[in-house]
Amino acid sequence: MRVTVVGGGPGGLYFAILMKRADPRHEIRVIERNAPDATFGWGVVFSEETLGGLRDADPLSYEEITQTFARWGAIDIHYRDRTIRSRGHVFSGIARKRLLEILQRRCRDLGVDLAFHEEVSELEALPQADLVVGADGVNSTVRRLHQEVFVPTMDVHSTKFAWFGTERAFDAFTFSFRENEHGLFQVHAYPFDARSSTFIVECPEETWRRAGLDQATEQESMAYCESLFAEELSGRPLMSNRSVWMSFVTLRCESWHRGKVVLLGDAAHTAHFTIGSGTKLAMDDAVSLAAAFSRHAQPRAAIAEYELDRQPVVERFQEAARESATYFESVRRYADFEPIQFAFNLLTRSGRITHLELERRDARFVASVDGWFAMRATERGEPGPTAESAPNVAAPAPYLVPLRLREAEIANRVVLSPVHDDALEGTLGGAGARSLLDAAAAGAGLVRADAVAVSAHARITVGSAGLYQDDHVRAWADVVEGMHRTSAALLGVCLTHSGRRGATGPRAEGVDLPLGEGDETWPLLAPSAIPYTRRAQSPHPMTAEKMRDVAEDFRASAERALEAGVDVLEVDMGQGYLLASFLSPLTNLREDDYGGSPEGRMRYPLEVFDAVRQAWPAERPLLVRLNVTDWASGGLEVDDALEVTRVLRDHGCDAVNVAAGQTVANDRPLYGRMFLVGHSDRIRNEAGIPTLVGGSLTTRDEVNTVLAAGRADMCVLDIRRNAR
Ligand SMILES: Cc1cc2nc3c(=O)[nH]c(=O)nc-3n(C[C@H](O)[C@H](O)[C@H](O)COP(=O)(O)OP(=O)(O)OC[C@H]3O[C@@H](n4cnc5c(N)ncnc54)[C@H](O)[C@@H]3O)c2cc1C
Repeated sequence: MRVTVVGGGPGGLYFAILMKRADPRHEIRVIERNAPDATFGWGVVFSEETLGGLRDADPLSYEEITQTFARWGAIDIHYRDRTIRSRGHVFSGIARKRLLEILQRRCRDLGVDLAFHEEVSELEALPQADLVVGADGVNSTVRRLHQEVFVPTMDVHSTKFAWFGTERAFDAFTFSFRENEHGLFQVHAYPFDARSSTFIVECPEETWRRAGLDQATEQESMAYCESLFAEELSGRPLMSNRSVWMSFVTLRCESWHRGKVVLLGDAAHTAHFTIGSGTKLAMDDAVSLAAAFSRHAQPRAAIAEYELDRQPVVERFQEAARESATYFESVRRYADFEPIQFAFNLLTRSGRITHLELERRDARFVASVDGWFAMRATERGEPGPTAESAPNVAAPAPYLVPLRLREAEIANRVVLSPVHDDALEGTLGGAGARSLLDAAAAGAGLVRADAVAVSAHARITVGSAGLYQDDHVRAWADVVEGMHRTSAALLGVCLTHSGRRGATGPRAEGVDLPLGEGDETWPLLAPSAIPYTRRAQSPHPMTAEKMRDVAEDFRASAERALEAGVDVLEVDMGQGYLLASFLSPLTNLREDDYGGSPEGRMRYPLEVFDAVRQAWPAERPLLVRLNVTDWASGGLEVDDALEVTRVLRDHGCDAVNVAAGQTVANDRPLYGRMFLVGHSDRIRNEAGIPTLVGGSLTTRDEVNTVLAAGRADMCVLDIRRNAR
């Protein structure tokens, strides 16, 4: 086979090695525009757990690379004049230049033709080949020449970074945060040989401009960073290697091939540098593509297998990298965190390391975190400096730590929210009551009864339970009594008016299917006359009188909840139900005082909230289930929800139950593992309010991770999903 590789970075060189090793008859030429010893940046880090693939692919280069490695096992986090160390990790680093030297030498030994100082600008000019590999990095010419097939998308990140080196060999992966009059700067530093380290400085673009770094020369930038991070550098200078300020670009391509032209490494995809994986991903691509060619004589079959093998893996890394990049872009959000929680949050930022994984690596560190969390949460004194020197090895896991909201003590942070629609004319049915009691018996701290109707016309479906008649109280009182007698759980009730999503068939048979002909149905209310689906009833826009009536229904239902002994009350402003549809500009087109501006759209939900807060005793918590994004163009976004949350908080809301989507039927949901946690994090830490979060949280480990990292205060465990 004749193979042309465009680009002599780690991905291109490694592919050439593996192909030549597989069959020495292959004619392989690598074309590189730069000199052999010219490269950008300094050292790259590898997570050693993932190196097995390289050993199997080419033991000789593996041996030489790993013999050159600087190795370490700790992560240091310098934050607010404290250094928190987490141990038990396995990292290795190598100078990029050294890595390229090893790979180039191996290529030569195997007979690969290396051509330096040749820049490829069109593919037609290349020698005839059976396969052309575009391994020419993030600004790939090969990709650009056929971008209509590769369909690249590029997300430019909002921070600026410069990739420096320094002659100080750190003994840990080091994160450092320093604030000056221009803003917050962070450093990611790690060793790459016995004497030197990579030293990447990153900051938000505004900070960078305020510091005048947009106008500064390379020397001036270095001097600025040397002075700011003098302590971390122990007075040593920084070193530059084309270390200009850049914005990282996350690249994705719909396809990685066009006929016999195939992309590999950074030319096909990038993953933010804060998870340090790009080199490894490029080399793993090379392993996969070469292996596919050893199995298939036909390039088409080999390339198809390569894409099938690699694309899902890369997507997972990109997802973790996105989480990690978002963390560093918004790290100011955690400015009030104590160092120990700040460190735990940083270490678990990308979702790849959880509480349990961290405990396996460094039980002592996790004991400090858990000890701090338990003491902090139960207000049994501040942990003080001994938390890390003498960690509490007997501290309960975060999910077992009680939470106090007003006078209510919720025994643990796990919330269960069973759904049953077997009510008869609003009276909670036997199966519904049992599922609530079962949830309490299962150990939840808080059991939520979802979507409890405030009037007959507020029901979602015929079987929805309600609190709209005095004779509904008995069944709820029985549940409360049974729950308190047999468990430590508290009962929470979410008061809902279904709005334009009402009068539908049982939810078990499908969501939002209108009641059939002959079924008992009822008229719907909404801010504006927009049906939820094409088949749904058109709702009546609410008059002032109707608005007063519904607010009164909420208030009266709250009084009945109190009479029944309900512990925690929630007002439903989520998922397209009545109050949520007032908040969203997609469903509220009113031109009176209750529409238009965000304040106008918020007016009615706030009036209802105030009415409930007045009826609900000051010592009992009142929550709001709030849509933080509509997942639809032109709809509510998290920034809008933050404003709503701040107002609700000031009106006496004790916590937000984070919800998303279903405002409109054609929304574009982003479901996935823990898909609401990022939103909860923003609401909690930017609006300063406790949050309750669900969304595919299926294990106690996930719950512990979310809680200890300060991304939520209670978690809805999805045990139904778990059971599948
Ligand atoms: C700040 C920062 C820190 C990083 N840290 C790490 C880390 O710790 N660990 C890690 O694994 N990854 C890290 N990366 C990512 C890593 O550098 C890349 O993912 C990796 O280099 C990709 O390898 P590649 O072979 O695909 O592309 P590249 O290394 O970019 O190589 C592409 C080659 O193609 C050549 N070329 C380009 N165009 C042409 C042309 N038209 N003709 C001929 N030649 C051409 C270039 O000169 C270059 O040599 C980091 C990246 C950044 C920005």
